[in-house]
Amino acid sequence: MAGMELPDQRGYFGEFGGRYVPEVLMGALEELSRAYETAAADPAFWAEFERLCRDYIGRPTPLYPAQKLSAQLGGARILLKREDLAHTGAHKINNALGQGLLALHMGKKRVVAETGAGQHGVATAAVCAKLGLKAIVYMGEEDMRRQSLNVFRMRLLGAEVRPVSAGSRTLKEAITEAIRDWVTNVEDTHYLLGSCVGPHPYPRMVRDFQAIVGKESRDQMLAAYGRLPDYIIACVGGGSNAIGIFHPFVDDPQVQLIGVEAAGKGLDTGQHSASLARGRVGVLHGTKSYLLQDEQGQISLTHSIAAGLDYPGVGPEHCYYRETGRASYVAVTDREALDGFQLLCATEGIIPALEPAHAIYHAAQLAPQLSPEQFILINLSGRGDKDINTVAEALREGL
Ligand SMILES: *Cc1c(COP(=O)(O)O)cnc(C)c1O
Repeated sequence: MAGMELPDQRGYFGEFGGRYVPEVLMGALEELSRAYETAAADPAFWAEFERLCRDYIGRPTPLYPAQKLSAQLGGARILLKREDLAHTGAHKINNALGQGLLALHMGKKRVVAETGAGQHGVATAAVCAKLGLKAIVYMGEEDMRRQSLNVFRMRLLGAEVRPVSAGSRTLKEAITEAIRDWVTNVEDTHYLLGSCVGPHPYPRMVRDFQAIVGKESRDQMLAAYGRLPDYIIACVGGGSNAIGIFHPFVDDPQVQLIGVEAAGKGLDTGQHSASLARGRVGVLHGTKSYLLQDEQGQISLTHSIAAGLDYPGVGPEHCYYRETGRASYVAVTDREALDGFQLLCATEGIIPALEPAHAIYHAAQLAPQLSPEQFILINLSGRGDKDINTVAEALREGL
């Protein structure tokens, strides 16, 4: 089956995805699926989404030719899709807006969300303020420490931020708590999941909202250069910014799709978040995908310098593209991501988030091997203001 038509009725991308949840959630997921099917078939829903994408988010974001970076590296021409310029500073707002509108359509008054880097929490808080929804955001205590500025932003935007102290006190535990809240309050509550993970219909729905990034890129490429890019490179945490830019190109075999996972301190150190590189198939948070787990199936502790990549699973659609060879996946370490980060700052005057800094590093390795007629498109998924303290600390420690 061609990638454009997936997932199937039951939410599978090949063997990945599905709906592995307790009975109490089945009804809520069915209701959500039906509401989404109705909305997705309604041109008025997309017209409103597109209007707010333009007026509230500031879309379309530019397709920016990174001429100095390209010249310094030699080889391919590098283009950046500037999601860092989207309202609240990352691609996360595209999905938050789509699901916020859907929650309104479903008559829900209360929204729960999880957040890792804080970007999804900020996007959700902003959208809920705008749409008049009550927002409750679960966040691991470790992430609250690393991303204190975003905690403050969420509170300013009217969200209640609830600290999660279980386990590694990061994204995985925050998702578990958000699901627990949803189960308890499902009548009036929508769970606004922030990446293309979780049970069906989330991976598909999040992808559809993020696909605006790929659709714009496609139009912008054709308008400016009359052709499609040779490579598209995006970082992969749960995988939503990557699937969003990949998806409209899935049926164009000449476009190579490369996802970049976090190799953390190194793939052999056990301190990384590279689920596709080092995971095994299992079930987490309601979906079947590649997971970082031990022999007993216990989920491993993960690490990345980029809080947004620090998750032991990955979206099922990426697992499927890896399996079928439609996309390939590489891993970049903390140290290398810092190089990518500094490279973009120095050449283009753009401070990237640490997440897409992984993609920048990989593109910088690839570009010199290509010709000046070739194009690499990078999804610059967010801006780096939130990461300045982390970078300062890492550089001070001589990483
Ligand atoms: C959250 C985040 C990511 C990782 O999430 P995906 O779902 O993999 O896109 C990447 N970049 C930025 C800027 C983020 O905030």
